[in-house]
Amino acid sequence: MIIKISNLVEGKYEFSFDESIKKIELEEPFFGNFHSDVVLNKLHDQLIVEVHTTVNAKFECDRCSTEFSTILKNDYVMVYLMNESPVDTEALNVAYLPHDAATINLKNDLKEFAVLSIPMKKLCNTDCKGLCYRCGGDLNKGECNCKEPEIDPRWQKLIDLNKNIKQ
Ligand SMILES: [Zn+2]
Ligand SMILES: [Zn+2]
Repeated sequence: MIIKISNLVEGKYEFSFDESIKKIELEEPFFGNFHSDVVLNKLHDQLIVEVHTTVNAKFECDRCSTEFSTILKNDYVMVYLMNESPVDTEALNVAYLPHDAATINLKNDLKEFAVLSIPMKKLCNTDCKGLCYRCGGDLNKGECNCKEPEIDPRWQKLIDLNKNIKQ
């Protein structure tokens, strides 16, 4: 994940990395290798680095609790300026390099953007039906045998009455 930048003339360069997630210090829920395609554009005193990454992750579905694997994608652009860093910079996606920097190391950014790509909602499938709240059966595997709770006919009258009042 280290790119040599000394002696680069202006222009576009492409790199790709296919490495174990351990190389960028990722652990669960990630597994296996990550793959990053990098396009580096060198201008006179800046480098524009575009990164497209895919990484495998394993989650438990929020609805049905089944474990599933998925491929998370993330894209980011980082601009490296060969400049003194301003004192109070809050700019995201901008990094400062000394004029004589020999390399850039993408490791921390690759790690950070992979972590940010973990979805808030983890679903094995966007239309996962989840588990029955009564028997715990997996409704993706078919209907369970639970029926709607039966209501005592004496209560039913009260329920109907209540509905009428609300209308
Ligand atoms: Zn599910
Ligand atoms: Zn059920």
